[in-house]
Amino acid sequence: MQVLKFGGTSVASAENIRKSIAIAAAAKQGPVIMVVSALGGTTDALIGIGRAAATADGAYRETLNQLEERHLGVAQELSADGQGPESALVRAQFEELRQLCNGIFALGELSTRTLDKLMSYGELLSSRLVASVAAAQGLDAVWADARQLIRTNSRFGMAEVDMAVTERLVAGFNAQHPAAMWVVPGFIGADAQGVTTTLGRGGSDYTAALLAAALKAHVLEIWTDVSGMMTADPRLVRSARPIARISYQEAMELSHFGAKVLYPPTIQPVMRRGIPLWIKNTFAPADYGTLVEVEPPRTAAVVQGISSIGNLALLNLEGSGMVGVPGFSMRLFAALARERINVVLITQSSSEHSICVGVNEPDTTPAQVAVDQEFAVEIAAGRIEPLRPERGLAIVALVGENMKDHPGISGKLFGALGQNGINIRATAQGASEKNISTVIRAADVRKAVNVLHEAFFEATGKQVNLFLLGPGNVGSKLLEQLAQQQRHLLEKLGLQLRVVAIANSRHCLVNEAGLDLTTWPAELGEAPPLPLADFTQLIIDRNLRNSILVDVTADPAAAGCYAQLLEKSVAVVACNKVACSSDYASYARLKSLSKEFNASFLFETNVGAALPIIGTLNDLTRSGDVVRRMEAVLSGTLNFVFNHYDGTRPFAEVVRQAQIEGYTEPDPRLDLSGSDVARKILILAREAGQAMEMSDIQIEPFLPPACLAGDVAAFYSQMAAHEAHFRALYDAATAAGKRLKFVARYADGKATVGLQQVALGHDLYDLRGKDNVVLFYTDRYIAQPLVVKGAGAGAEVTASGVFADIIRAARL
Ligand code: ADP
Ligand code: ASP
Ligand code: MG
Repeated sequence: MQVLKFGGTSVASAENIRKSIAIAAAAKQGPVIMVVSALGGTTDALIGIGRAAATADGAYRETLNQLEERHLGVAQELSADGQGPESALVRAQFEELRQLCNGIFALGELSTRTLDKLMSYGELLSSRLVASVAAAQGLDAVWADARQLIRTNSRFGMAEVDMAVTERLVAGFNAQHPAAMWVVPGFIGADAQGVTTTLGRGGSDYTAALLAAALKAHVLEIWTDVSGMMTADPRLVRSARPIARISYQEAMELSHFGAKVLYPPTIQPVMRRGIPLWIKNTFAPADYGTLVEVEPPRTAAVVQGISSIGNLALLNLEGSGMVGVPGFSMRLFAALARERINVVLITQSSSEHSICVGVNEPDTTPAQVAVDQEFAVEIAAGRIEPLRPERGLAIVALVGENMKDHPGISGKLFGALGQNGINIRATAQGASEKNISTVIRAADVRKAVNVLHEAFFEATGKQVNLFLLGPGNVGSKLLEQLAQQQRHLLEKLGLQLRVVAIANSRHCLVNEAGLDLTTWPAELGEAPPLPLADFTQLIIDRNLRNSILVDVTADPAAAGCYAQLLEKSVAVVACNKVACSSDYASYARLKSLSKEFNASFLFETNVGAALPIIGTLNDLTRSGDVVRRMEAVLSGTLNFVFNHYDGTRPFAEVVRQAQIEGYTEPDPRLDLSGSDVARKILILAREAGQAMEMSDIQIEPFLPPACLAGDVAAFYSQMAAHEAHFRALYDAATAAGKRLKFVARYADGKATVGLQQVALGHDLYDLRGKDNVVLFYTDRYIAQPLVVKGAGAGAEVTASGVFADIIRAARL
């Protein structure tokens, strides 16, 4: 004996019905009980029709006609010559349905009893069609009315089954109908008076389990549209995969916590009899599916699956009057039970100061009324607070029996959610440790389930979502490097880097599935504009896991968005120096937000492009060293200029060459005036622990003031006019056997920047091209400094520095 249940999609069309019948006919351990759902979507349609009729909305007639057309279409396709009994059968059922709906319309009322009657037609239709076609194919098939087999109480909409009577009824039917195949409508039953009831939405699975238990079947097979119970809801997690073997307990937990593939009450009847339950895919019958059994072979998997249920509200009962007084919980639960309110989750702090229960959202108001009434006296006396419901929540649960033997699972769960800014409102973990539940905002569910799936099931492939501002020189190089490295990153580091948005001041290109990094330049030009504030909001609203803002602009407005993002746990990687060199309070706030919300704020390229200067400084201070003094050449531009200027070409021309080769800031005056170097030493001083402002830095300019008076064009012409000044500086240094270097110094909380003559043998003397160098004198590096030296400017190296920061943020 074998029971096979076919779900709504499996019987949604004539073609699918044929597939289902073929699967049932091929079953080895006959006789076969075939339980069927309504044609996919029918139950929802019937409910809609009933509600419309009850509210005097005549449109129900049209919807009913459409539903009939759909069934007739399937019936005609199924009957071999179009003349089979199937069409007449459908018409007869719809005649009854029409009368029922007219009655609802006339009365203007839809009771739960009438709704059950109405919904039952979905399964009655599908099962009659299937039975008729199976018989026409020559199979020894009979239609068995579930209302004569499944006995329930009269709780319409969610009737409870009387198993003893059901077993007798099934045995009786079995004795009278020794057919090789029964076709049974799922979902429905009848009470002792023979009135039609239903077993709850999705209840056809349960019908099948009840029949399997009553008949002591060898196996119960649930045929559906996915290849088994999966590690997460495949509609939420693209990389979810089927679980081959799972225990009844685990399957029960997963289904209770939202894995829709199995209606939760289904497990209990088959578990009691030890009947294996196999979930299979009607559309890929060769796939293994999921076998649910008593003791599946132990696997390495600690967490078996992740599931979620939405529409949850939390009710928090609290007050000092509860501490140490017995009976509060009992009264709370009794009050809820009287209203037939189902408690989904409970948590209580050990201080007994509060009890928190989760209920389905529609139950919130009745629950609040019931509980406030129960505790009216205590509330009036101020010993208990009135109930504060919180709506719009959901539960995300980890399920797995092996979790109890593994420490650190909760830590990993909380860590993964925390890093993504997902706030946990409550948690519950039973002592059996088969399930760890967290209550979060409903809006965070997709992100949470994906983050957890990555953390527990995907050893490789953490998805990281990048939002890039400023695809200019450095930005486009960065995108090029990302495109080149994507495969390598996935294979070697398990990072799946995706660029979700690219924006400049004129256009914003977005693709949540990840932009094509080879075609973006053309596409960006076509994309609409998006103001910066909306770009920030877009990052927040998309709420994607592991999001990083990559700011490759020099725009103060862009820097103004960081705080808002860090507060949402979105990491920020900035090449833009504005944020770290603006007022100290803003810099300090960003650093503390980064800590508080567990979001990286990285800006290595603010000083010396990709050179590990800030990283080294951080390592020194984190390990307890104290930076006493720093001496540095921090402007690749100025170094390039002074290395190339020897009086043979005008100074202005050398500066222009530096700009053309991409070594200057977008505005070269920032470099030449020394203010860019001042910003850099300021950032280093701050990172070394000094609360400094830009105004504390002494800048000794070497440009004649006229050079900085006008715009960029005037700047070049003024430099040309002052060639003699630059020549004199050069000649003086050369005469003394020295070189000109633009040096930044920091010592004991004070900093200066200015042009200096550096003697041969000094650490700063021998610097080529656009090199930067930083000398750190610390408590550990006293006589000889720690030196970091190398190319400190250029789009390619700067991009690689931003890239390295992205990887750092992604791997956190
Ligand atoms: P049927 O009509 O066959 O009973 P259902 O729609 O009731 O099918 O259940 C199957 C659906 O359950 C799948 O299509 C899938 O979208 C959803 N689902 C949710 N969570 C899971 C999960 N963990 N594993 C498999 N399917 C799931
Ligand atoms: N047709 C019913 C429903 O949609 C029962 C089921 O499909 O299992 O809820
Ligand atoms: Mg179902």
